[in-house]
Amino acid sequence: MTAQGLISASGADLDIHSGPAAVAPLYVSQPLLPDQTALNSYIEKIWASKYVTNHGPFSLELEDRLAALLHVPTAKLFNNATIGLLVALKLFELPPGSEVITTPMTFAATAHSIAWNNLRPVFVDIKEDDLTIDPEAVEMAISPRTSAILAVHVYGCICDHGALQRLAHLHGLKLIYDAAHAFGAYWNGCPVASLGHASVFSFHATKLFNTLEGGLVTTNRPEDRERIYLLRNFGIKNEEEVVSVGINGKMNELQAAIGLLNLDIFEGEREKRKGLRQRYRQVLGGLDGVLLQEVAEHITQSEQYLLVRIDQEKSRLNRDEIKKKLAEKQIFARKYFYPICTDYEPFRNMPIISKRARPYAQVAKHQVLCLPFHSGVTEAHLDLIAAVFQAC
Ligand SMILES: *Cc1c(COP(=O)(O)O)cnc(C)c1O
Repeated sequence: MTAQGLISASGADLDIHSGPAAVAPLYVSQPLLPDQTALNSYIEKIWASKYVTNHGPFSLELEDRLAALLHVPTAKLFNNATIGLLVALKLFELPPGSEVITTPMTFAATAHSIAWNNLRPVFVDIKEDDLTIDPEAVEMAISPRTSAILAVHVYGCICDHGALQRLAHLHGLKLIYDAAHAFGAYWNGCPVASLGHASVFSFHATKLFNTLEGGLVTTNRPEDRERIYLLRNFGIKNEEEVVSVGINGKMNELQAAIGLLNLDIFEGEREKRKGLRQRYRQVLGGLDGVLLQEVAEHITQSEQYLLVRIDQEKSRLNRDEIKKKLAEKQIFARKYFYPICTDYEPFRNMPIISKRARPYAQVAKHQVLCLPFHSGVTEAHLDLIAAVFQAC
């Protein structure tokens, strides 16, 4: 019996792991890794062929399988999602200096990809219920200089796509999703990869489906395939023609092999996380000042994060104190996302456009805490976590 024991969807076999407090550190995420023997057989093939990168057979196979899984005609792999975001923004040839409306409640890569493209991020507020971008605030922020909306399905909560799509259509804007947290999620029965003009997924080791480092750009248009390929490959069309200013965003064959193997096991991990989400609900539900993430009826969750919000006016301990007390027990929760983008040096003091006097993002950033959420979390860990929260 190890601290890495698995959790069943029902939680029924959890009891075998209770007992003395776990001492090994527990992190917010744990990489999903394929069986090493299975990986070895891929490595043997790669070594035998010496085809190690540059659109090799495993990356092509992975692209095909991902396109089928996510129901999109265009699915192009990247070495990471940040390069994927750069390329997704580049794809639409947005006017230099034009404004891209985005959320401050996200990972740094979202805002940086806008600025790195010589575009101007315009931050707007988030919705209180699920912390995704608020379409009313987006509408307030639209100006003649606006060229795109870069929305984030943050924590696997899916943005209000209906409202965003209407605004994008009405004002002739591109609608791009940072879907780093939303691999395999559905919105009203639609796979999220098909929403908007483009979506970008991260396959970083912290993400449920991962290739250690990696990313994916999807669009609904088959004709985007070639342009994304060129942007990803230095703009090189053939030995004698370079047709655009591209970057190097290629995924290598070792990572593609890990992706192919993880494709077979990530649904199992997702099922375990569903069970774990229920257990968290049982353990933390109903505590004063502790708000668990609600998953709306029309959304099939990606099970990327387990978010709680701690309202210090209602609970005895505040978020930072809870994080510290968990850390004393070797349980490392993370303040995703604190600081928010408008607290970063390059974007400091940029306004957050909001219908409220005080943007909700400024409130939420002091409340959010992501708890360990993967199949390595045991009943013993949950007991320790519960004890910290119950002291609130
Ligand atoms: C992880 C993440 C990224 C960046 O992904 P990389 O693959 O590490 O470049 C971008 N946006 C969000 C919201 C993320 O969580």
